[in-house]
This record gives sequence, C-alpha cells and structure tokens, in this order.
Amino acid sequence: MKTINPATGQYINDLQEDTRETLAEKFALIQAAQASWSANSLTYRVAILVKFMQLLDEKVTYLSTILSEETGKPLQQAQNEIRGAISRIKWLTEHAEEYFSDEVMSNSGGVQEVISYDPLGIICNISAWNYPYLVGVNVFVPALIAGNGVMYKPSEFATNTGIAISDLLLSAGVPPDVFQLAVGGSTVGQSLLEMEFDGYYFTGSYKTGQYIYEKVAPKLVPCQLELGGKDPVYITEDIVDIEKVAADTAEGAFYNNGQSCCSVERIYVHEKVYEQYVAAFTQQVNNWKLDLPTEPDVFFGPLTRKDQVSFLEKQLTDALNKGAKLVSEKKELPDSGYYFSPAVLTHVNHEMEVMKEESFGPIIGIMKVSSDKEAIELMQDTPYGLTASVYTAKEAHAKSILREIKTGTAYWNCCDRVVGALPWSGRNHSGIGVTLSHQGLRAFTHPRAWHLKK
Ligand code: NAD
Repeated sequence: MKTINPATGQYINDLQEDTRETLAEKFALIQAAQASWSANSLTYRVAILVKFMQLLDEKVTYLSTILSEETGKPLQQAQNEIRGAISRIKWLTEHAEEYFSDEVMSNSGGVQEVISYDPLGIICNISAWNYPYLVGVNVFVPALIAGNGVMYKPSEFATNTGIAISDLLLSAGVPPDVFQLAVGGSTVGQSLLEMEFDGYYFTGSYKTGQYIYEKVAPKLVPCQLELGGKDPVYITEDIVDIEKVAADTAEGAFYNNGQSCCSVERIYVHEKVYEQYVAAFTQQVNNWKLDLPTEPDVFFGPLTRKDQVSFLEKQLTDALNKGAKLVSEKKELPDSGYYFSPAVLTHVNHEMEVMKEESFGPIIGIMKVSSDKEAIELMQDTPYGLTASVYTAKEAHAKSILREIKTGTAYWNCCDRVVGALPWSGRNHSGIGVTLSHQGLRAFTHPRAWHLKK
C-alpha cells in the first residue's frame, strides 16, 4: 500500500497490507494474551494508559509531523488534535476506577446485589482519517482499560499515524499481543467483518457504517457506529456581537478544512442580522491563509483525499447552477496537491446538494430565515442527527429550539466541540452507540449481575 502526501501529491512510503492469513495470526495472538491483560488490576491498566498519554505529550512535535504529512492537516492543527486527545485520555483514565469498579446496589436480608463490568473480549476498531488521534482514543483507550484486546484498523489515509500510535502504546507497557494493527483499506476492513470479534466499533461514513451494521448483525455482538453529519447552526435575531459569532461559526465550519464529523455544515441566519453576519463570516474566511500545511499561520491545507476535490467541485457547481452566489474570494492554490478554495455560498436552498448531503470539506451554505419556525423546519430536514447549534442571548430560547432537533449533541452559543466528560453519539444516520463519558467507558464492557447470598 502506497501512502501519498496530499499537500504535494508525492509518495511517502510503502506499507505492507494485511491479508486474511496475517489477520488470523494477529487475532490468535490477541486471543492468547487478552485473559492475562484483563487479569491485571484496573489500576495497573490505567497506569499504562496514563503513560501512553505522557508519551503523546513528550512526542507531540514528532507525531504531528507524521499526521500532517499524510493527512495534509496544518502542523498547528495536528498538534492541537494530539493535545485534544491527551485531554480526553486524562478524563477517561481519571474516571475509569469510578465507572469500572464493582457497584454494590443493595446489601440487605443476607443478599448482596452487585454489578461488575466485564471486558467484552477482543474488539475490532475500524477507524477514520480526519481526526485519527481523537476518534481512535475514543475507542481503544476505554477498550484497553476495560481489559479487552484490540484489533485497530486505522484508515488507509492515516496508517503511519496508526503505526505511531501502536508503537507508543507498546512503549507505554501495553503487551504487544494485546493491541494489534490491521493495515489496509476497505478489503482489509471487509476481512475483519468476516472474523469473530466480540464487538465492532466503527468511525466513518454512513454508507460504510450501514454496510458494517448489516454484516455484523448476525453475530449478535455490540456494534457501535460513529458516522457523518449535516450539522446545522441557527443564528437568531438577538445576538449582539455578530463579528464574534461569525468568527466562531466560521471556525466551526472550516477548521480542519471542514473535514470534521461535527463541523458546521449548514447555517441559517435570521433576516435581521443576516447581511452583517454574512459580511463578517466571509471576511473571516477571506483572511485565513491557504498554503502548504508546513507553512506558518496556515489555516487551510489540502484536503486529505484526492477524490474529495471533485466531490466538492460538484456540490459547488450544483449550487451555482441552481442560483447560489459565491461570496468568498477564490484563493490562490499551490501547483500540486489536493486543494480546494473555501467556498461561502448565499442564496442557497434545500434543492441544492450542499444543503442536504454531507460535504466534509470547506464549503458552506448560509440561508436567510424569517422565524424560529422556519429555522427549525430547515434544521430538521436531514436524515442525520449528530449536533445542532443555536446562537442567541437567551438559554431558554436556545434549549426550546434544540429540543426539537434530534441530535446527540446540542450547543448553545458554541459549535464543533467534543469533550471527554460528555457522551458522543449520533442519532438516525449519524450512528448508534456512545463513546466518551461514563457511558462510553462502559460501552466496552458487559455488565454482570451478581446475586450473592451468604
Ligand atoms: P469511510 O467510511 O470511507 O472509511 C472508514 C473506515 O472504514 C476506513 O478505515 C476504511 O478503510 C474502512 N472501510 C471502508 N469500506 C469498508 C468495508 N466495506 N468494510 C469494512 N471497512 C471498510 O469513512 P472516512 O472517509 O474514513 O471518514 C469520513 C466519514 O467519517 C465522514 O462521513 C465523517 O463524518 C465520519 N466521521 C464520523 C465521526 C463521528 O464521531 N461521528 C468522526 C470522524 C469521522
């Protein structure tokens, strides 16, 4: 498997893809090692993941270079991602004892009733490239702390990062057999679906997620899917600092080149503040620098996947053909690599693909609305349900709107934000199951009910 630098289109390295045979060998190694891993004390396993976190911190500069080279992420954003992963691991490791320890539910009449949290066994994690540290950590950290063995398939667009993660876990003290890498693309992913894991944890597109869910269903094992979104933001008429709100939401839409599952994908603005908002938003986007990800102060690097450039061009053309207006400046693009000039569109409507399909790139439609009712109807017009956001001076106003929208996450006066303490989940086409928070820790366990009679 060849890896390519999306900033230049140049070759990085060759990696040996796994075959069915090598995957089976790796599976057997995990199987032989998992029981002794889970027999260690919880404190011991937590300490190893804390060590992993410390190593990430020590090596952040080196790791961000690898991440930036294969995904095109600007170096500063690559470092931010690793630091974000560290803060999630901190929450997970600090709370593992609290949520994995046995719970005595009652103790009377000579009977003790207890819940214990047993590891599932060997779990399979098929992952995405857009935030390999963040989405990876959501799964393999709690899985390992819970005592599971892990087969981790990084995306074919972030495999060098997957290798770096694996090396660091092993250096931290995770036994080599307990954590195994599956190297390759969809064919290797497909082979993993044919194996008998005790749980499947997937991050990626709706299309692949739906396919995986169907394949895994007959196995009757847990299957969690963290999928895409078409996340809306509504700017109500009572916001005061429009410049700040515009800058905040522009960052929510375009950070990481819009390649975030929870990036802002649609914006509805009340007509009273619309003109000012569009002007401030566009100004912000025009000010950001597009260049090689290694250049200082760069905000937009290349897209990670080559085919995403033509996908976004298609969405842009479709919108323009149907009456949208491009209000942002065209940026000068480097000669080679997978670049797309960020596009801010007005005069958009829901006949346009850009307002309906996940873009997963630096393109956004801003639509004028005249009432909360209209905004709510438009926000609801999607099969996805990852996040939604409302900017307004009043908390109660935001909550009353957000309760109408079926999403796993609701934001008041913020967007594009994920933390370790809160559950990360999608509804409808955005997925099934939960990572992060106490629920995301326990997602890698089977609860066992103990009835203990003296
Ligand atoms: P993708 O679905 O193309 O690939 C994801 C993973 O699945 C990769 O590792 C890939 O090799 C593997 N895969 C592909 N086909 C497979 C098959 N038939 N069987 C088994 N495995 C297969 O997605 P992507 O391009 O890597 O990621 C982008 C998508 O991920 C976007 O839709 C984004 O919104 C979503 N995402 C969601 C979250 C979240 O937390 N909800 C986080 C990050 C990304």
